[in-house]
Amino acid sequence: MLSNIQTDKKETLHWGKKTNRVIQKIKLFALCGILLSGMLLSGCAIDQSPKRYETVFLDVFDTVTTVILYDTDENSANARFDELHALLLEYHQLFDIYHAYDGMNNLYTVNQNAGIAPVSVDARILDLIEYAKEMDTLTNGRMNIAMGGVLALWQSYRDAGLDDPDNAALPPMEELEAANAHANIDSIIVDRTAGTLYVSDPEMQIDVGAIAKGYAAEQAVAAMKADGVSEMLLSVGGNVCSIGTRLDGTGWKVGIQDPYSDGTMCAVQVAGQSVVTSGTYERYYTVNGVRYHHIIDPATLMPSTYYDSVTVVSENSALADALTTGLFCMPYEEASALVESLSGVEALWVLPDGSQRQSSGFSAYLAE
Ligand code: ADP
Ligand code: MG
Repeated sequence: MLSNIQTDKKETLHWGKKTNRVIQKIKLFALCGILLSGMLLSGCAIDQSPKRYETVFLDVFDTVTTVILYDTDENSANARFDELHALLLEYHQLFDIYHAYDGMNNLYTVNQNAGIAPVSVDARILDLIEYAKEMDTLTNGRMNIAMGGVLALWQSYRDAGLDDPDNAALPPMEELEAANAHANIDSIIVDRTAGTLYVSDPEMQIDVGAIAKGYAAEQAVAAMKADGVSEMLLSVGGNVCSIGTRLDGTGWKVGIQDPYSDGTMCAVQVAGQSVVTSGTYERYYTVNGVRYHHIIDPATLMPSTYYDSVTVVSENSALADALTTGLFCMPYEEASALVESLSGVEALWVLPDGSQRQSSGFSAYLAE
C-alpha cells in the first residue's frame, strides 16, 4: 500500500475526559464560527494554494520509489500518486525477469520460452526491447541485455557469497565464457506484426536490469505530463526524473552519492531532466578481501574497473539509465567522446583513484 506523507501535517487532538470533550467541542464550534464569519466578511475562500505532497512506494522494481508533487488538494494529490503507482506496477510486472503473473506474458515468460516459441507480449515490452537494442548499438555492445546468462552466474555467486562470506568465490571463467557464447543481441527477435518476442537461442536469457527502471520511469513521467502534471520529482531507486521546477521556480536539487561514504559528493539542480548514477557501491560482494560489484564488462566478463561511479544527466531517463551502465564499461576517452557526441547529455565520472571527470556542460547543472 501507499504511505502518503503530507508535509503540512494536520495535528490530531486527543481529549481526556468526556466533559472536557464537550467543552472543547463547544469552544471549537465557536472558534470555527468566528473564523468562518471572518472569512466570509473579508471575502476569503478556502486556501487554494498548492501544497507539497510526498509518497513512497515499496513494491515496484525491488527498490524504494519516492515521489514529490504539488497540488491544491490532498485527494487529487493522492489520485495522482495512485495513477503513478498503478503505472509503475504494470511496468514492473511486464519487465520482471524473475516472476510470472496471472493473465500476463512478461519477460519471465519470454525467457522461459527461449528456443521454444515466440511469445505474444504487450507492445510496451516490444518498445523496451527495441530501445535496449538501440542502446546496445549506441554503447557499442557495452550495455547488452542479451548477457543474462553471464549476469545470472555473477548474481548466484554474489548471493552465495553474501550468505556465506567465508566461502565466497568467483564464478569460474570457463562458466562465464560458456554463458557468454549465448549473448548475441540478434537472437532477441521482435516481431511487431505478430506482436511477439522470441529468444531464438535456447541458452540465452534476457536481463533488463540496466535499463528497465529508467525506461519505466520515463514512460510514467510522460503519462503524468500528459495528464497535466507540471511539477514532479520521481526517484525509482535513485533513478531520478524531474518535471518542471519546484514551486518557487528553482530547479530540483538531486544529491549524487559519494562512492566512498554514505554522504553525497555533490548535488545537481534540474528542471525537466533526469539524473541517474551507477556505482560500484550499489551491489557487491567480497572475495578474499576484494570487492566485486554488479556491472559486468562484456569484454572481460568481470566487474568493470574503469570507474567507481558514473552519473548521467539527460532529458530522457531511459537513455540516462542505459548510458550509465554502458559508459561504466568504456575507457574514459571513448566514454567522453560518446557523451560529447550526444546533445543534451552530460556526465560525471569518478575514477578508481577518486578523481573526477566532467563532460563539457556538466558544471551548468552543479548546485551550490
Ligand atoms: P542499478 O540498477 O543497480 O542502479 P545499473 O543501471 O547500472 O544499476 O544496472 C545494473 C544491472 O544491469 C545489473 O544488476 C545487471 O542486472 C545488469 N548489467 C550489469 N552489467 C551489464 C551490462 N554490461 N550490460 C547490460 N546489463 C548489465
Ligand atoms: Mg543503468
